[in-house]
Amino acid sequence: MLDLAIVGGGPAGLTAGLYATRGGLKNVVMFEKGMPGGQITQSSEIENYPGVSDVVSGIELMEKWPEQCQRFGLKHEMVEIQKISKDGDTFLLDTGSETVEAKSVLVCTGSNPRKAGLKGEEEFTGKGVSYCATCDGFFYKEKEVVVVGGGDTALEEALYLAKICSKVTLVHRRDGFRASPATIERVKENDKIELLLESTVEEIVGDKMGVTGVKVETKEGSVDVDAMGIFIFVGYDVNNSVLKNEGGFLCDVNNWGEVRVDLKMRTSVDGLFAAGDVREDAAKQVVCAAGDGATAALSAISYVEGH
Ligand code: FAD
Ligand code: NAP
Repeated sequence: MLDLAIVGGGPAGLTAGLYATRGGLKNVVMFEKGMPGGQITQSSEIENYPGVSDVVSGIELMEKWPEQCQRFGLKHEMVEIQKISKDGDTFLLDTGSETVEAKSVLVCTGSNPRKAGLKGEEEFTGKGVSYCATCDGFFYKEKEVVVVGGGDTALEEALYLAKICSKVTLVHRRDGFRASPATIERVKENDKIELLLESTVEEIVGDKMGVTGVKVETKEGSVDVDAMGIFIFVGYDVNNSVLKNEGGFLCDVNNWGEVRVDLKMRTSVDGLFAAGDVREDAAKQVVCAAGDGATAALSAISYVEGH
């Protein structure tokens, strides 16, 4: 019987592992289907992790995290958890080949930005194509960028980018947005944001240095838009499948499948916690995921001690 099972070994899971083991929990296992580190290891440049003043790659940033956790007794199993259920006070984790029992569980499986499937998108990912304005907006200070999408995320991120960049062209395939009316109003009033509606990106173009612009199919015909950065916000896939059971989800989730938590990262189920990008209202940043992981571990310690 584990004291705590952690599902997911990104910044949230690793930090939770550090705090849980250092805080006195004995049997703590982090189940991570790949190498620990999480999705940040796909990034080549990070300059917003506090205390790390050099620009580092995601792999460099995460390199020492597993080693630090393991020093305090965290065990890593390279296993993809299939399903989590609860029987009385005991959680059951299905690994596909066996069932692991745990007193408490922390889910930190993250979420992934969806790809738009645009020509050139894959080729230029990390070379001008980005899925995170908070992460990469600053690299385009006083430069022109394009935003793709028409939901709350695209419009809010367009407003964020307009504070940093010289111009934001927002390309959306319909003339109506999915975002809240107040956000739509703010976008329309912003002088730095140009709207290309009922328009689709035909191709992201660039050279060896990276993106130089996009070809956009508008109602009036094809136009070339110069831009060094293309920000794509066409929704997220929340990695919540471990919580899905026949009758629905094990705990409360919001309309988009993000796990509902309180300020202590407690879900609606006693002893089940969630942290990082998988939870609702996540800022989707490494430092925030790590903070969530620490909070969740402290909550798990007091839950296990109380039972
Ligand atoms: P994740 O990092 O997504 O980790 C979840 C882990 O769970 C993964 O390792 C996955 O393999 C594992 N997993 C999922 N399902 C299962 C399962 N069933 N069983 C076992 N394991 C499972 N943030 C910044 O702060 N600054 C940046 O500059 C920045 N740049 C970014 C650039 C890119 C290209 C990307 C993709 C993200 C960037 N981010 C950045 C965001 C940051 O990476 C995330 O906010 C952060 O990694 C979230 O941490 P997490 O632990 O919640 O989830
Ligand atoms: P979303 O609401 O699903 O919007 C995705 C947008 O991308 C849509 O406008 C969609 O166009 C467009 N799109 C999808 N696939 C595309 C493709 N292949 N090519 C071009 N465009 C494509 O996603 P989201 O904005 O990330 O928001 C997710 C949920 O979180 C939403 O329900 C949102 O309200 C919520 N959210 C809320 C807040 C807030 O309340 N402050 C902030 C952020 C997100 P169509 O419109 O034509 O389908």
